[in-house]
Amino acid sequence: MQSFEYQRAQDAPTAIAAGAKSGTRFVAGGTTLLDLMKLNVEQPEHVVDINHLPLDRVEPLADGGLKIGATVRNSALANHPIVQRDYAVLSQALLAGASGQLRNMATTGGNLLQRTRCMYFRDTAMPCNKREPGTGCSAIGGANRTLAILGTSEHCIATNPSDMNVAMAALEATIHVQGIGGERSIPFAYFHLLPGDTPHQETLLEPGDLITHVTLPRPVAGSRSFYLKLRDRASYEFALASAAVVVTVADGKITRARVALGGVGTKPWRAIEAEAVLGGERVGEPAFRRAAEAALRDAKPQSQNGFKVELARRCLVYALREVTQ
Ligand SMILES: Cc1cc2nc3c(=O)[nH]c(=O)nc-3n(C[C@H](O)[C@H](O)[C@H](O)COP(=O)(O)OP(=O)(O)OC[C@H]3O[C@@H](n4cnc5c(N)ncnc54)[C@H](O)[C@@H]3O)c2cc1C
Ligand code: SF4
Repeated sequence: MQSFEYQRAQDAPTAIAAGAKSGTRFVAGGTTLLDLMKLNVEQPEHVVDINHLPLDRVEPLADGGLKIGATVRNSALANHPIVQRDYAVLSQALLAGASGQLRNMATTGGNLLQRTRCMYFRDTAMPCNKREPGTGCSAIGGANRTLAILGTSEHCIATNPSDMNVAMAALEATIHVQGIGGERSIPFAYFHLLPGDTPHQETLLEPGDLITHVTLPRPVAGSRSFYLKLRDRASYEFALASAAVVVTVADGKITRARVALGGVGTKPWRAIEAEAVLGGERVGEPAFRRAAEAALRDAKPQSQNGFKVELARRCLVYALREVTQ
């Protein structure tokens, strides 16, 4: 790991001014950043510690929504009584991620920005367009069993590995950012970018942009939510496929559905097509299966991950069955 300068930021403007300089990274829990620094994948010259900024609170909003500070730990968020009561899908997704120790360190902002687990991205001896633009993609035709089938490009097929992000997508969260140009709010669906021919650009953030908090809209009356994660082992493992669903049912019919998939997309994957199929349909397997078919219609499997198409469909059907029981 190369040497770097460490700075503890005491207020947001100082952090942002320092963060805008090239070669600088913020550190929150450090469970992504330090990992990648040890592998020489990330080599910042300056590291700005944001753990002392007042961004560690979960607060109800006057409009019935919820404000989540960027440095709220994943474990604190998952166990918060309002999250457990009104946003169960978020609590379940967080608790399905990593391990207890990691969740005690990992933060909301850091989780939003965690990097792919593609093995070539983490190995500096291998070509990787995301790590080193223009060098090629080793995963296409290589080891791609865990990689994406939705939103891929000929330049990158890396999966967004976050569980939390899938729940945030289904809950239609908003990400609030403070940067050198002021404050702005970004709807979750627009925050992460598809790889296209610039896979190194993963989000709309500019240098120096500090995520200050995330807001969740007021929960929809009568809605229920659920997160299902399918993986190679029961804990401490990333999703091969996952589904976050938020559904409202009246008189046996689905009146509103929000669906997002994890483990299969290059970004947290909102399945608008599945939502359109479900709206107004009678609760039951035929509608669930049609929704799952629609969600995976554009899937482009690689040499080793074709199994994910049916796995993701079944994952979604199971989640819909569970949430409507
Ligand atoms: C062994 C292991 C297993 C894991 N398993 C899972 C899993 O199953 N599911 C899952 O979802 N995740 C998993 N993770 C990933 C883990 O959830 C992330 O590493 C964690 O959420 C990142 O949060 P952090 O606060 O530690 O981020 P950091 O490492 O501190 O930061 C990550 C990135 O975000 C930037 N950043 C952080 N906060 C801000 C901010 N407020 N504004 C702007 N930029 C910011 C940093 O500069 C850095 O680039 C695992 C990690 C490990 C090491
Ligand atoms: S899939 Fe993306 S991250 Fe993985 S090797 Fe290809 S370019 Fe790199």
